[in-house]
Amino acid sequence: YENDDFSWSTELEQNLKDVFQLSKFRPLQLKAINLSMSGKDLFLVMPTGRGKSLCYQLPAVCSEGFTLVVTPLVSLMEDQLMYLKSIDVEAVSLNASSSKEHAKMVLAELTDSKAPFKLLYVTPEKIAKSKLLMSRLEKAYNAGRLSRIAVDEVHCCSQWGHDFRPDYKLLGILKRQFPKVPLLGLTATATGSVLKDCQKILCVPEPITLTASFNRTNLYYEVRLKDSNSDDSVSDISALIKERYKDQSGIVYVFSQKDAETVSADLQKKGVNASPYHANMNPEDKSQVHRKWATNKIQVVVATVAFGMGIDKADVRFVIHHTISKSIENYYQESGRAGRDDKPADCIVYFGFNDIFRISTMVVMENVGQQKLLTMVDYCQNVDRCRRSVIAVHFDEVWDDEGCNEMCDVCRLPSFMLNVVQIVELAGSLDEKLTPLKVTEAWMGKGPAKRRKMIQTTTLSRLEVEAIITSLLLQGYLSEDFSFTPYTTYFYLKLGGKAPLLKNQSHSITMKMRRTGLDA
Ligand code: ADP
Ligand code: ZN
Repeated sequence: YENDDFSWSTELEQNLKDVFQLSKFRPLQLKAINLSMSGKDLFLVMPTGRGKSLCYQLPAVCSEGFTLVVTPLVSLMEDQLMYLKSIDVEAVSLNASSSKEHAKMVLAELTDSKAPFKLLYVTPEKIAKSKLLMSRLEKAYNAGRLSRIAVDEVHCCSQWGHDFRPDYKLLGILKRQFPKVPLLGLTATATGSVLKDCQKILCVPEPITLTASFNRTNLYYEVRLKDSNSDDSVSDISALIKERYKDQSGIVYVFSQKDAETVSADLQKKGVNASPYHANMNPEDKSQVHRKWATNKIQVVVATVAFGMGIDKADVRFVIHHTISKSIENYYQESGRAGRDDKPADCIVYFGFNDIFRISTMVVMENVGQQKLLTMVDYCQNVDRCRRSVIAVHFDEVWDDEGCNEMCDVCRLPSFMLNVVQIVELAGSLDEKLTPLKVTEAWMGKGPAKRRKMIQTTTLSRLEVEAIITSLLLQGYLSEDFSFTPYTTYFYLKLGGKAPLLKNQSHSITMKMRRTGLDA
């Protein structure tokens, strides 16, 4: 479709530039728009921030009549109205907080052939509950003025999705009552079966589904090891910001509100213009931090995941995770706030051994699922698969390694192989409870001789030994056990289920190692 010339092509191009002030389409936008302009029903699956809204806003501007947009959140609705107003596109809305007069005016304008608005935003509850709205829409439909229907967050229709909303269940009325109007369902996350369900609920006979790739080609992905015992990642982060990202805008994501405060203070001490942001700050402070950052008066926001909704700064050059996210989905979303202007940007995670256990506790409390956390750990500790491939496979995308273009540390940085069988042998041969620290010391030639002699003395840093242990744990060569003393709980290593394989002399465990750091 991209090359086909439709009667509306020129008008699209012109309005893209003149009204939306954008120079070109992003992948799939033009295809989606052309299909919708051709009258097809369409489901568009596209990651957040990639530009789904343009796919109904631009057709709305280029069509007679108006487009009905169903969207669940009043705050997002208001953001859109503000944005459209700023580019002189007329739009109106109806939601629970609309005044009586406003609602009356909008309903009257619906059937007025001279009404100037191009988009009508409503909440699904209005469609479900307002008979008056439906009868006015019917009139507009009969007069040929209802040009398109967009259903935002379309996955909310399905109970199998992660965000079911009962009012969405009733939206089938739209296609039943206005069968000739093309419907465009938009979502950032929906599996095939969820979409099938949405299709049924919305009464769309044969929708075309377009799925955008999750691959963000302009983002460079990197994982850095963080020392669990003497965490000095803040020094590393401040050096990075001052050297590599001088005067460039960024976000540092942290685990807790307390971390937001301390990491921000530490960065400030080191001369970085940073401010904390978390859910427990008062609303004025939050919006002030956001505003100052958006206008480049603050270089770095040190934030919990509370910093997310409504953030649409295009020139974010780096997103650094001081602590890993709780799943790949979360990581993709958080790191994806970098480089929305399509220029190169970096996504760096600091991965510390102990963070797994810290987050694990939270994940258990929030009932998110340990398995999801492990996907994130796998992303980090993996040293031989392209990082993009890990993300792509996670989102069920077919992946071709050429697609990375050395835009991740695994593909870019040199590596070396290491035989790590000795660590497993060490764990199996000693009577004592072997903590990761003891293994590290043994590897570095410290500690009692009986441990030392088990280990080859390639020089490795503690971080590297910790990474090896994590990998051995995940692969099942080692397992962990806990020991309780009156004062603390510590975990130690023992043989895992796969350890017996090593009885076979020819079975070895080699790991690819990679040196990272500022100079890498
Ligand atoms: P989504 O709804 O998919 O989360 P939005 O529609 O809110 O994404 O768009 C996110 C950002 O991308 C907005 O700032 C928008 O202006 C910008 N954008 C959309 N399309 C383009 C484009 N073709 N070129 C550059 N920026 C774009
Ligand atoms: Zn890669």
